[in-house]
Amino acid sequence: KSKKVIAGERKMAGLLERLAESILKSHPHLEDLVLIGIRCGGIPVTNRLKEIFKKRLGLELPVGYLDITLYRDDWTRISQHPEIKKTEIPFSIEDKIILLVDDVLFTGRTVRAAMDALIDLGRPKKIELAVLVDRGGREFPIEPTFCAMKVKKVAPFDYVSVYFKELHGKDQICLESK
Ligand code: 5GP
Ligand code: MG
Repeated sequence: KSKKVIAGERKMAGLLERLAESILKSHPHLEDLVLIGIRCGGIPVTNRLKEIFKKRLGLELPVGYLDITLYRDDWTRISQHPEIKKTEIPFSIEDKIILLVDDVLFTGRTVRAAMDALIDLGRPKKIELAVLVDRGGREFPIEPTFCAMKVKKVAPFDYVSVYFKELHGKDQICLESK
């Protein structure tokens, strides 16, 4: 069992800045862009991005949160009684560019489910994906549009812990091996 810190507070701030930077490169005015975070890990990343965009451009992007529990193709394997949290998307996604946001991308099943859930809500112009960490291991043909950090050689039972000050008292990314 081991735990290796791969990003501390300063590095994590840099990663989030870099992520915002690459999003701004392809959407300089953030036009038609809405941020939708996938519960739970996507929420703090979404809120951080929103803050960075507000500082940079003085713009407040619409923000929503998506719960995809029942859309997972394997939810019965995860739990017979999934805990349903709330999807909160208080705006229309019709013709919007949705930036889906999550903390870690692994098999791609969550993102597939998220797209399924979104399409039930309307017809966005485009869906893009921003993640803080890509840990590899894809089982679906899904790739992030924007990614702050690729972590290589993560074994299937390893875990990339992502901590946020506002939730866990520190900003940190760790690789935990069993
Ligand atoms: P996937 O559906 O792509 O297999 O897994 C991605 C989802 O599960 C994300 O919502 C993410 O929060 C969570 N997840 C999967 N692997 C990890 C990991 O190593 N670390 C963290 N923090 N979350 C993970
Ligand atoms: Mg998650």
